[in-house]
Amino acid sequence: MQIVSSIAAMQRLAKKWQRAGTRIGFVPTMGYLHDGHLSLVKRARQAVGKNGKVVVSIYVNPTQFGPKEDLAKYPRDLKRDLKLLRELNADVVFTPSDAEMYPGLGSTESRPTSGFSTYVVEEKLSRTMEGASRPAHFRGVTTVVAKLFNIVLPDVAVFGQKDFQQAAVIKRMVADLNFPVKIVVAPTLRERDGLAMSSRNKYLDAEQRAQAVILYHALQAAKAAVKQKSISAGRMKIDLNEFTTAAPLARLDYMEFFDPETLEPVAQVKSGTQMALAVFFGKTRLIDNARL
Ligand code: AMP
Repeated sequence: MQIVSSIAAMQRLAKKWQRAGTRIGFVPTMGYLHDGHLSLVKRARQAVGKNGKVVVSIYVNPTQFGPKEDLAKYPRDLKRDLKLLRELNADVVFTPSDAEMYPGLGSTESRPTSGFSTYVVEEKLSRTMEGASRPAHFRGVTTVVAKLFNIVLPDVAVFGQKDFQQAAVIKRMVADLNFPVKIVVAPTLRERDGLAMSSRNKYLDAEQRAQAVILYHALQAAKAAVKQKSISAGRMKIDLNEFTTAAPLARLDYMEFFDPETLEPVAQVKSGTQMALAVFFGKTRLIDNARL
């Protein structure tokens, strides 16, 4: 397994593979890997086969964090991540630096030839939910993913259903900007009690961790409720509120019911509707979603 930090070196390697007709599978991550991430790496291997190359990027992308968010304390453990990826036979781990990804980011230097000033913005699917709660988040995501696609030159890139809206926004970007990349969305891996695996689960104390399962329970209850009949979105929100009131440490950020293709909110919730929610436990914000 090769560890590549320079953008030019990664791009050279990718171009060499491309010329040789070798398929490239790509999994972008922010590191602190858990089994959810590893399932995406396995999926990428499956997609490109044993003669293909699997590239995993580990990069905590500063432009997708808001000024009051957890960029500085986002968990990192590169040594452990590399060990896990070596065991999975990843071919390359790409670990670029901020200085190379965003030269001069945050500096007040105004010479047009220095620094970084081009962003990719999706203007429809990224407006609601995560986009409404975290302004500029998706601008950072689409920008870094576009950059990574131009550096790694993947044939296939694998994203997690855990970040449903993110996957939808990336698919739209790829279609709109004609990236020759197939996007695969892989299922959410969960802890034994149903909590979706996330690097941010590490922030939870024991009590918060015990209550964090309400995200999953709310999704399951919604699924059961619409099995036989449709229910208005307003009614669902009232009914499911009992999960957040039963967990005194939880503060609901949003709960939405929407069409899985357009992400447009629906008035009537039925089987096949997508549900997503975000819940704060202290400063930690957890998200989850499911097809009902
Ligand atoms: P992150 O490191 O949080 O940026 O996530 C990197 C990729 O892993 C994204 O495509 C996520 O959607 C995906 N991912 C995160 N958590 C899970 C999970 N529990 N199951 C499957 N994929 C996940």
